[in-house]
Amino acid sequence: MNLSEMRAQPDQSNNLSKANFFDWKEAGTMGAKVRPYGKWIRRFLHFIQVSKANGDTITAVVPCINFDYSSSVVVPIEGGCPLDEVYDAQLKGETSNILPFCRFSDPPASWGKDAKIQNHSFSANVNVINRAKQEVNAKLNGSGITEDCLQVVSFKKTAWEKILLLAGASDNADPDFTRGDPSDAVDGYDVKLIYHADKPGTQRYQVIESKSAIPLTDSEIESIGSSIDLEEYYKTRTRDEIIEHLTKIYESDGINGGTSSSANVTDGIADMMTKAENAMNTA
Ligand SMILES: [Zn+2]
Repeated sequence: MNLSEMRAQPDQSNNLSKANFFDWKEAGTMGAKVRPYGKWIRRFLHFIQVSKANGDTITAVVPCINFDYSSSVVVPIEGGCPLDEVYDAQLKGETSNILPFCRFSDPPASWGKDAKIQNHSFSANVNVINRAKQEVNAKLNGSGITEDCLQVVSFKKTAWEKILLLAGASDNADPDFTRGDPSDAVDGYDVKLIYHADKPGTQRYQVIESKSAIPLTDSEIESIGSSIDLEEYYKTRTRDEIIEHLTKIYESDGINGGTSSSANVTDGIADMMTKAENAMNTA
């Protein structure tokens, strides 16, 4: 082939740039209706600040590997997570030798002066169709799903317990009071996610289930085919891979944190996640 017939390589194809996080605060007390689909992914996430060689500071989101995510309850294990070492060093007022350019952010002033830095936080994540953003009229002639309808919702402990309760995921679940997995393509249903800014801590998050099952339509199934793969997005790395990943970010110059070589989290997504997570953490 002649050079003149060749074309520039497209960006490494991954769908991670589509990650669009649901904002609980924006949903407010009126709530927002969403239809979960796909798999539920549980992770303890580190939000770690990387002071890059070029002077920029970015937040990277890295799943902690000191947990077993395959068991019914996510339990701590000896995984050799380097970020836990960064955390321990920082608590002692030291800088870690392995990742000297990484640092956990200080707790917000609103947490009080005795607040400790946060190591990692739990979230269960799922893909959803945001019904409010799905165009009702278009639905008559198709799914009505545009890219901003497809979101990722992070559930913290209390909201997650409500989902488990609905699913009957309990040793003594009462079948008369369970609805099954809301993400099921056929028997699943919408949930309304509500945020109460005036309530304390964990009570701010409310989940209400719809009265009946709402199967995904064929056109919806087609539309969600291109949504973000949460297993890939929240994939766990080995200790060495985490160090390599963060070192690449440290060395990178571009706005994407030098992560284009593999399907990694870009700054934009990390920022969005951090925003979504912070909205929950500081609640
Ligand atoms: Zn860790």
